[in-house]
Amino acid sequence: MKQADLLIIGGGPAGVTAAIYAARKGLDFMMISRDIGGQAAWSGRIENYTGCQVVSGPELTARFEEHLKKFSIRLVQPETALSLTRDSGRFRVSGEKDAYSASAVIVATGKRSRLLGVKGEKEFLGRGLTYCAVCDGPLFAGRDVAVIGGGNSALDAALQMSRIASRVYVLESSGDFTADKILVNRLSAAGNVEIYKNASVMEVRGGRFVEGIRFSAQGKESILPVRGVFVEIGLAPNSEFAAIASRNEKGEIKVDCSNGTGVPGLFAAGDVTDVPEKQIVIAAGDGAKAALSAARYLLSL
Ligand SMILES: Cc1cc2nc3c(=O)[nH]c(=O)nc-3n(C[C@H](O)[C@H](O)[C@H](O)COP(=O)(O)OP(=O)(O)OC[C@H]3O[C@@H](n4cnc5c(N)ncnc54)[C@H](O)[C@@H]3O)c2cc1C
Repeated sequence: MKQADLLIIGGGPAGVTAAIYAARKGLDFMMISRDIGGQAAWSGRIENYTGCQVVSGPELTARFEEHLKKFSIRLVQPETALSLTRDSGRFRVSGEKDAYSASAVIVATGKRSRLLGVKGEKEFLGRGLTYCAVCDGPLFAGRDVAVIGGGNSALDAALQMSRIASRVYVLESSGDFTADKILVNRLSAAGNVEIYKNASVMEVRGGRFVEGIRFSAQGKESILPVRGVFVEIGLAPNSEFAAIASRNEKGEIKVDCSNGTGVPGLFAAGDVTDVPEKQIVIAAGDGAKAALSAARYLLSL
């Protein structure tokens, strides 16, 4: 079992910032994560992270990695936390590779994509169906694709794909987009995008790879002959393993203004928490606060 005073779980903006702060505080800490960058790596174009006028997700991730390398951080990656327990004032985390013990823990595990839940979704995952336009978009150059969803992630994906794909169909289930107006305006200006509102996707179909989707809109059932399907219908918090923390009805970990969870020594930061706005700058700020709170907690022991 690996031991440290502090264990940071997650390598997105919240976890990386927490690690930078923990390193600068000289804490004895470890970081475990499935990846570095988290959801921030999926964004095509980030225009609202202070100090970076425009930066792509992969570029920002590279800068995170560079920043982490400045410190000699004990990083286990890829690693997935499976359970978190507390006994006699020590936390124990079981991971896929190893077990970890620490006096304080910061959970910064963010969110993951929600599933569509239709026929063909599982079968065509990785064979034309994807949850990440930044990662997989270039595979569909010159093809017709569908983006499912109407929020910021969906429109971000649709805009990215409008520059790569031949035609982009956007299907959203409610009467209107919930995305920011700037994205809606950009999408309306794109020449190769067709929008279906009040659309309900019923099936992803094909042979070896995706060949189309069946959907209904305005009481009419249709098939769109697409080779790529981008599912962008929202996110769920990666908090199941941290059931010792109190969570809200969405599964988000409840935190106070110091990122404490109510369990002594257990802190949470970023999108996995019940902080209402989910943004890179907010997650990063949260990570800094959580690390400083954890440092104060460790000093008090
Ligand atoms: C397509 C898209 C575009 C976006 N564009 C913008 C934008 O332009 N501007 C903006 O401000 N925000 C944007 N966001 C939101 C922003 O990316 C998130 O708010 C931010 O990344 C949250 O950071 P986080 O560190 O809390 O969580 P995440 O980024 O979700 O990172 C979580 C980390 O935890 C790891 N992890 C998860 N579960 C486990 C586990 N069990 N064990 C170990 N590790 C685990 C993951 O691998 C990841 O490294 C966008 C999001 C998406 C999806």
